[in-house]
Amino acid sequence: MEDCQSIIEEIYNVVKGDNKGDVASYIPELSTIDVNKFGVCLRTTEGKQFAYGDFKTSFSIQSIAKVLSLSLAYSILGEQIFRRVGVEPSGAAFNSLSQLETENGIPRNPLINSGAIVICDILCSALKNPKRELLEFIRSIANSKTIAYCPKIATSEKETGFRNYALINYLKSFGNIENDVDTVIELYFHLCSIKMNCVELSIAFGYLSNKGIQATTDKRILPESGTKRINAIMNLCGFYDEAGEFAYKVGLPGKSGVGGGIAAILPENYSVAIWSPKLNEKGNSYRGMKFLELFTSETQDTIF
Ligand code: GLU
Repeated sequence: MEDCQSIIEEIYNVVKGDNKGDVASYIPELSTIDVNKFGVCLRTTEGKQFAYGDFKTSFSIQSIAKVLSLSLAYSILGEQIFRRVGVEPSGAAFNSLSQLETENGIPRNPLINSGAIVICDILCSALKNPKRELLEFIRSIANSKTIAYCPKIATSEKETGFRNYALINYLKSFGNIENDVDTVIELYFHLCSIKMNCVELSIAFGYLSNKGIQATTDKRILPESGTKRINAIMNLCGFYDEAGEFAYKVGLPGKSGVGGGIAAILPENYSVAIWSPKLNEKGNSYRGMKFLELFTSETQDTIF
């Protein structure tokens, strides 16, 4: 890791010249972003930081936040959450309804929309003030008091979230939503609206690279076995319909979001966050995926 900063800068400058893809526009507020933004931050489990580009600019982490809500639910209830959501890759769109019909309202995994909505319902049942407590959890694992929900993005999600309303009502019809649908969907839209920068995001994912312990404070966030479960789920389900391609090309467990962010980890080594808003045709950050492919090829370190 000695020359990590120079490797990051070299690869960043190669990838910066290639800015293919399109920003997500189905949530209108996401399309207002400057498409040229590009930031990287890598944090080792020993607390060293290597960062470059727009790593201090906050962006909408979107579905990356599903890993954090899953971690909070697991830290409270452990294995029992998997009675209500599976751990299999979906092989279908992230907002698909059809698999719910054949699988009795049990979402395939917690990182697709239906699964994340069930996790939000679990948090609504388990917490007194889920919106506030979820944000407090994310602030504490990211070591930042300023992380916040973005009301504009949450509203934009709500105004265009017809699929997500369909999903939650469909889940409810199978009995897999315990709370009022409006309360749960409100938490889901806020979860997706969280803004963080690459430094905060790489710190937030630190416990997943460090056997469940937050590197900056030595606090245990998850049991070691829970960390294994979440990393396994990210590896199989973290990149929409491109999880196989990501494992094949990059070889790290991670999660992407339609805001153009990717967070990934190498167990017992580092967590890394990358942001570049333009997405490839599968919905993953075009430059983010390229960057990580070149980075793990150069460092020759992957989970495989
Ligand atoms: N908020 C988005 C939605 O519910 C999630 C997008 C994503 O996968 O990053 O459609």
